[in-house]
Amino acid sequence: MQEIKNQSDILVLGGGLAGLSMALQCRQKLPQASITVLEKRQHPVPEAAFKVGESTVEVAAYYFAEVLGLKDHILEQQLPKLGLRFFFPAGDNSRIEDRREVGGKRYAPCPSYQLDRGRFENYLGDLCLQRNIQFVDQAKIKKVHVSKRGQNHSVDFEIDKRPQSTQARWLIDASGRRAFLKRELDLQKKSPHTANAAWFRFNGRIKIDEWCQSPEWHRGHDGKTARWYSTNHLMGQGYWVWMIPLSSGSTSMGIVAAEEFHSLSNFNSIEKSLAWLDKHEPQCAAAARDNLDQLQDFRAIKHYSVECKQVFSSQRWGITGEAGFFHDPFYSPGSDFIAFSNTFLTDLIERDMNGKGIRMRAFSYDRIYKRFYYGTLAAYRDQYCMFGNPTVMPVKILWDYLVYWSITGFIFMHDRTCQQSMYLRNLRLLSRLGKVNHFMQEFFRDWHERTKDIPASGIVNISEMPIIREMNQRLKDQMDNRTFAKQFAANLAQLENLGCEIVAQSGLATAPPFKKSTNPSIRQDAFAHVFESLRETPSAALLESV
Ligand SMILES: Cc1cc2nc3c(=O)[nH]c(=O)nc-3n(C[C@H](O)[C@H](O)[C@H](O)COP(=O)(O)OP(=O)(O)OC[C@H]3O[C@@H](n4cnc5c(N)ncnc54)[C@H](O)[C@@H]3O)c2cc1C
Repeated sequence: MQEIKNQSDILVLGGGLAGLSMALQCRQKLPQASITVLEKRQHPVPEAAFKVGESTVEVAAYYFAEVLGLKDHILEQQLPKLGLRFFFPAGDNSRIEDRREVGGKRYAPCPSYQLDRGRFENYLGDLCLQRNIQFVDQAKIKKVHVSKRGQNHSVDFEIDKRPQSTQARWLIDASGRRAFLKRELDLQKKSPHTANAAWFRFNGRIKIDEWCQSPEWHRGHDGKTARWYSTNHLMGQGYWVWMIPLSSGSTSMGIVAAEEFHSLSNFNSIEKSLAWLDKHEPQCAAAARDNLDQLQDFRAIKHYSVECKQVFSSQRWGITGEAGFFHDPFYSPGSDFIAFSNTFLTDLIERDMNGKGIRMRAFSYDRIYKRFYYGTLAAYRDQYCMFGNPTVMPVKILWDYLVYWSITGFIFMHDRTCQQSMYLRNLRLLSRLGKVNHFMQEFFRDWHERTKDIPASGIVNISEMPIIREMNQRLKDQMDNRTFAKQFAANLAQLENLGCEIVAQSGLATAPPFKKSTNPSIRQDAFAHVFESLRETPSAALLESV
């Protein structure tokens, strides 16, 4: 039987993505600390048919590869990602080449990756053991006792049905939807965002590239720039379907839909999902049916969005990953939030273990984290109505990218996440950025109402757009505090310019509550290329039917 230490400095509940990476980050900062992770599953876990959370974007890619130093594993054992790619509806969606497409033909300066979650968690688990972290699998947590008087916390768990208990100075809940601390401390909060998902994996590559034979459509997508390297999104009103390649050779597919448009009861089994795809995404349905004998799993989840009243406490507990917040998988932000919460928590633990006070910091990190969360939620909440709109969505997607690279991505990737003085200095700027974004998200809804039935085609090739490349590249630049502050302010001015440009180009008589900057270093008409693509002729198929 395994000998478990009955006392640790840091005890992590749940050894999934958030818990294992949290333990590794703590080990980096605190080489002497005793760290325990309790995980109910047996390791190694299966590859491919394991968990969702396979597509990463810039923050998570930077966190895993650079902050945790896992780049070699990722480059050798996982897949590079050719960005996010979106296809909008055209007719009955039976010809991919007729659909308006938004995506790149080149890799962005900042990399992102597709992670086979099983393979990744097996690697993280092994690394924990190598780094003297007590990672205990097959340990089923039963009860947590949170101390409010500054004593150690304690946890009851079972291994092989034999009861055990252990204590720790710090208690970190990374138990995913089991959410021990949220339940124990009554921190549950209902999310206003109601959407559902179903997903399944096939043992084999499903390549969107094979859905059309036209050499014209394939131009620029050879070898490693084939479209299947992207996280592909098939978009429609109130829904999107994902296709993600995994390094183990499998393909992950999922349907995500807002409840008011598509009830989960219409796609909560593989048979129903295929029938649903037949109706809305016939090419995808055909590819799935061709691979049905290679089906590896099927899962569905109702109301996946979860919230929490508090995630960090000076009482020496914290919550990370899905045990706290999760809003929406569109744009793949789940692992980004793991990067943020782990980074805040590691800083609090390091300070506490070095004898520093953490009361104010725990309070302000909790507020900052929630601000990031609610700021990002604006991009999804009440926005599924426009997901099938080929006029508005390409612009909204690029707007959302730029907001991400200007604020959350910009702060995290320039290692300013825990710099309290930076937030204080930029309080007004951050609040202005929030208001600009809220205005634009409302504006997109209005614009959608006026354009929802207009068909469109053509490729919006984002890898050749100067502003997209520049802003993405800037995430990699080294910046001293002065340059960072200057660039942060320039990011806001750039977004305001872009907001004005988008509103003007839409033709709607709306006046943005902000003005264009005349500063010559801020780009004017940065989206001209997008609007040119948007004016392209309607799709051939639709013209034929007129
Ligand atoms: C439909 C959907 C699609 C998504 N797609 C993406 C995406 O493309 N990219 C992205 O970044 N994010 C995505 N996410 C979010 C992503 O899945 C989560 O951010 C991530 O999996 C959360 O990891 P975690 O470690 O918090 O939870 P988990 O991975 O669930 O880990 C929790 C761990 O706790 C363990 N545990 C639970 N109960 C006990 C117990 N009693 N005792 C011991 N151990 C226990 C579990 O076994 C598990 O290993 C998606 C989410 C959804 C719902």
